[in-house]
Amino acid sequence: MVTLALLTTVIWTDGDAEDLERATVTAACVSLGLALINLLSLARLRASHRWVRYSAWGLTVVLAAQIIYAVWNDDPGDNSLRILAATTVLLVAFSVLVPILGRWSGREAASELTSPRFCPACGRGLEDSSQPVTCPACGARFQVNFQ
Ligand SMILES: [Zn+2]
Repeated sequence: MVTLALLTTVIWTDGDAEDLERATVTAACVSLGLALINLLSLARLRASHRWVRYSAWGLTVVLAAQIIYAVWNDDPGDNSLRILAATTVLLVAFSVLVPILGRWSGREAASELTSPRFCPACGRGLEDSSQPVTCPACGARFQVNFQ
């Protein structure tokens, strides 16, 4: 909504609002970055493939920061633009890889849905899905049976 309001304001301004345009690009980068992170979160990945999603999230944040830096800096320099381009290529590659891996490991990921992912006592995320589970944080020991 903020991005839409800024974009509408920039469109109706007479072109002498450079900071407003920069703020609009910044808000658009944040909005689009969060949208991409949310989309990447939808894929059900095997635990051994989750690093690909975390890498894509990290690359999204880095790319948004690089674009915002380039927009607010009057002379970002050739090297920073090259690094921005390389980050873009990596982000596209990882973003394409996440749904492919989700599809590829769909059956195994579905079986992970029937195992506990969080400790019911303290809420900590669990990596080990073997049953019964012992929470490494609070020591609670439990077993979950899905019907
Ligand atoms: Zn716990």
